[in-house]
Amino acid sequence: MPTDSKLPGIDGASNISGPPIDGPIGQALWARADAVLPGRAMFMTRSARYAGPGVQPGFIDEAEGCRVRDADSRWYLDLNCGNGPNLLGYRHPEVEAAARRQAERGDLMPYFPSAMVDFCERLLRWSPGFDWTLPVKAGSDATALAMRIVRAARNRDRLILFRQAYHGNNAEQSLRHERHPAAALNNLYRLDWNDPAALDAFPAEAAEQVAAIMLNPIDQPSGVPASEASAEFVQAVHRFRQRTGALVILDDVRSGFRLHPQGSHRAMGLDPDLLCLGKALANGHAVGALLGKEPLRAAASSILYTSTYIYSAVCFRAAIATLDVYERDNAFAAIQRAAERLRAGVLAAAGRHGLDLRFTGPASHPNVLFAQDPGCARGERFAYEAARRGLLFHPRLAWFVSAAHDDAAIDEAIAIADAALAACA
Ligand code: PMP
Repeated sequence: MPTDSKLPGIDGASNISGPPIDGPIGQALWARADAVLPGRAMFMTRSARYAGPGVQPGFIDEAEGCRVRDADSRWYLDLNCGNGPNLLGYRHPEVEAAARRQAERGDLMPYFPSAMVDFCERLLRWSPGFDWTLPVKAGSDATALAMRIVRAARNRDRLILFRQAYHGNNAEQSLRHERHPAAALNNLYRLDWNDPAALDAFPAEAAEQVAAIMLNPIDQPSGVPASEASAEFVQAVHRFRQRTGALVILDDVRSGFRLHPQGSHRAMGLDPDLLCLGKALANGHAVGALLGKEPLRAAASSILYTSTYIYSAVCFRAAIATLDVYERDNAFAAIQRAAERLRAGVLAAAGRHGLDLRFTGPASHPNVLFAQDPGCARGERFAYEAARRGLLFHPRLAWFVSAAHDDAAIDEAIAIADAALAACA
């Protein structure tokens, strides 16, 4: 994420020479949006402007499977998956049927819905090794709650995070652009990613104040190559816990369900004390969760945590159906296969056109970038040429593959990417 005051795609000049992707309705919506929304506050994943002016359609009004329709009624093949959540494809029939059945009976009601207990039990069956779970609404809620629980458990204030890692939308979790009270960040150390020596050399006296290390499975800031946690780094995290008593939080909000079928910690060889989930957990419905082990149950019980909409029953039913379909259909394997075909096909096309395009990070949610393209100008052009031809992906953020990307969709995506790359070459 950029930390300077100039934000690519918002403040920068357009890198495209053709007409904007938005049609007249989309363009009118931008004018209306600018009147009622502070423009830069929502610059990140939710704004097509962050992709570059005119590079992507600004407003999407309908979605099904792996396809989306913009406000001007144009359909696209989509590789954003709602920035991750759509694991099984938009509006998966079984997930939507489960949600609808519950919606007909009630969603937000007094006290707890039984769906909440069903959901918690189902989630704990999904990844053995955790003993309790707390439902939340969003990834930011899961990481914020984890931060509170480790502080309560260890009676220590500080946390270790890694350089550019994004963990959510409050001051401590994000890299903020606006002025904030310095004290808000006083309790954080930001160390280098994949640097075991930085953890090993962390001074013992300072370590006594560290409640936890919080890490992502992948270092994946926008617009730069992604890098997975090395085995040596994971070992250093375990060593740090052993040496200092600090806990380990894995933020699996983005990678969850796409790196390993039972949580990214299993792909990494990491043994986290807390696991944060969001995004893909309910195939687009608003539910996240924190999973924890027995020794942290008392600390979790000491936290007062409530929020009006946590207890909505519909999203719990959607999450249960998502987990059922994901496991029954081995959606993980389908996603890997589709993603590897996509990567191979797009890389071959780039090679044919003499372009140095790179896929970094896992195939299922890679950062796809040109070499020697620091401002992502070439990436914007590629995303624009693809959108013109009916394929959407973000030039700076991860591409996401879902189980709805069948062979025909992947072949179509490769063919469009090929034509778009030819236009860029
Ligand atoms: N952690 C990571 C790694 C994320 O990618 C995100 C969202 N992009 C979050 C936390 C925050 O999740 P949410 O936007 O659902 O609050």
